[in-house]
Amino acid sequence: MILFIDMNSFFATCEQQFNYYLRGRPVGVCVYTGKYGAVIAPSIEAKKMGVKTGMRLNDAMLLCPDLVPLETNSGRYREIHLKIMNLLRKYSGDVIPKSIDEAIVDLQHHKHIYKNIEDMKKLANQIKQDIRDTIGDYLKCSIGIAPNAFLAKLASDLQKPDGLTIITPENIDEVLSKLKLTDLPGIAGGMENRLKNAGIDTPLKLRYTDPAVLKVACQSIVGVYWHYRLNFSEVDLVSSPYKNMQAMRQLSREQRSSAQTIDNIFISLCMKLEKRMVAQGVYCKEFGMNISYQNGQRWKYHSKNAPLQDGMTIYHTLKQQLDKYAKEHGGKTLLHEGVAGLGVNVSDFVTADVLQVELFEDNIKKDHLRKAVYDVKDRYGYDKLLKAIELKEGHSAAYQDLIGFGSIKDMYNEQDWVSNSNKIQNPEE
Ligand SMILES: [Mg+2]
Repeated sequence: MILFIDMNSFFATCEQQFNYYLRGRPVGVCVYTGKYGAVIAPSIEAKKMGVKTGMRLNDAMLLCPDLVPLETNSGRYREIHLKIMNLLRKYSGDVIPKSIDEAIVDLQHHKHIYKNIEDMKKLANQIKQDIRDTIGDYLKCSIGIAPNAFLAKLASDLQKPDGLTIITPENIDEVLSKLKLTDLPGIAGGMENRLKNAGIDTPLKLRYTDPAVLKVACQSIVGVYWHYRLNFSEVDLVSSPYKNMQAMRQLSREQRSSAQTIDNIFISLCMKLEKRMVAQGVYCKEFGMNISYQNGQRWKYHSKNAPLQDGMTIYHTLKQQLDKYAKEHGGKTLLHEGVAGLGVNVSDFVTADVLQVELFEDNIKKDHLRKAVYDVKDRYGYDKLLKAIELKEGHSAAYQDLIGFGSIKDMYNEQDWVSNSNKIQNPEE
């Protein structure tokens, strides 16, 4: 009763949707389109020419001279993402965005409408049609249908683009027999080695290995999860018990007189939450911000999203809302000299262990990198290692802010940043 929807080559297809000239052409979406830029999202056509995610533009152009490099339009992708989520919610109240281009539609509460596999298939085709008719005729997705979220994700991976694959108790052994361990989302080098060392070298063997043996092989409860996943139990749709975290700051008169300082503080709050989420190993599915003004007024914003840990992404998303407000109010900005306090909050967490072995294969590397970055920061100092994007935007001041003034007060404020705080004792804080 689970549908997993994966938009094919999402960023590139969005560009092709907006610009007719790009359709049918190899397109490479890049953060930066200079010689040393990297393709972060090749189109279906570019993939056919061998262009891969992460490839230097230099190399990609050699491989595919017709490649059209384009800069990212994250606002555009987010807009289409939201439209897709709204469309999916027509079919079930239980829609879970998994990333900007992936979502789960849980139909377990709609068993009376979707009675059998034929009904589910019809629904999947209807969704594809609705996306083309109402959001964009060039958008394609692969849909997987299975008894649990993991297998539905796996099914969606098996046929691209525009696929529809169903995994059932009847065909699962046949499906698994054609796959390698690393074809399972969440199994990468380390886990593969651990399983192979225990003599489990195929997905089919993984399915039929005793959970107790798997626990020993994986050296963690994660092994048991693998047994459940391949035997139709659900382990991936559970949320963390942590309720929310927030980072707040009252602004001095001097601070609020400078738009740049307000912005720096805003970034430092987002990065502070990133740091806490990394420390707790959680990802937020909701975040928001509130601004209080000296005249007693308040402004609030709240958003649901795919599980997220990255502070700069939170910052940029909130910033977009602020810009949108300014646009709609004749350029009147929300962050002005009347601001008394700023707060950013994150909530509705999922834990890393569930997430990492789950549906976020592309993010495992990023998660490991983020953890490694914080290990270095912890050892050598917070400002010793920064993301290029943070420097590029001239925000290094934000980090001095984070480790400098105000930090003692924040240490006390840390106490109450989680509502059921007895669950969390973070030694680092
Ligand atoms: Mg995709």
